[in-house]
Amino acid sequence: MTTGRVYLVGAGPGDPELLTVKAAALLQRADAIVYDRLIHPGVLAHARRGARLFYVGKEGFGAATAQSDINRLLIKQARLGRLVVRLKGGDPFVFGRGGEEALALAEADVPCEVVPGVTSGVAVPDLCGIPVTHRGVAASVTFAAAHRADGAVDWRHLAGADTLVLFMGGAKIAEIAAALLAQGKACSTPVAIIESGSFDDERIVESTLATVGAVADGARFSGPALVVIGEVVTLRHRLRLAGGLMEHTATAARGRR
Ligand code: SAH
Repeated sequence: MTTGRVYLVGAGPGDPELLTVKAAALLQRADAIVYDRLIHPGVLAHARRGARLFYVGKEGFGAATAQSDINRLLIKQARLGRLVVRLKGGDPFVFGRGGEEALALAEADVPCEVVPGVTSGVAVPDLCGIPVTHRGVAASVTFAAAHRADGAVDWRHLAGADTLVLFMGGAKIAEIAAALLAQGKACSTPVAIIESGSFDDERIVESTLATVGAVADGARFSGPALVVIGEVVTLRHRLRLAGGLMEHTATAARGRR
């Protein structure tokens, strides 16, 4: 008999102040918190004393807690009658396998609720002064996962996007650029790679589709990175947001620990 409940909670892009009020309240009530690598320590600081914390993060593309193990952990904790918060970076249903977890919980008859979060796909470009659907520049934005630069990605479709935001694309950017160029995307198309957006060590590196491979090679990204491709990237020079990032630099202006 299940008495517990799992909340799939979005933690936002990093900065703990970008957590929703609802997420913070649930963290204060949770008996068990299951969290990923991208969760800022300041978010976990909302946990009440005595809450059980389970780290199930993946290190880059290396060793990861198997999804089936995570599902089992959530089900087990809920069946112990606990209020479980499954904390996921950004929004739980944007490329984070939150849907798979919700399905596994449904199949196990464990009550589950979703608490939307601020997705990095919009928030991270925002923080860099990139409005992903700026009027007159981009009438649409396409979000895609790019961890497989092989036949599994429909590059022809993606090359047609006004603004293309790629998750998990940092490591494969040279292949991604080649695939988009092969589909006829212009060499001069602006590209921004934003690493660890809203964290202390955030970085943005700008280039074009023609040069991004070499530029990214030199930048040696190691944190989570979002790739934004399209004319909207250049707007950041006109917007010049206070607190905006300098080119090719790491600043500690925003995140708090
Ligand atoms: N559900 C999350 C995305 C999970 S997939 C969301 O809505 O944001 C993980 C990918 O998200 C990373 O590989 C990276 O591409 C992107 N990402 C998440 N947080 C990020 C951050 N703070 N800065 C840059 N990219 C980030």
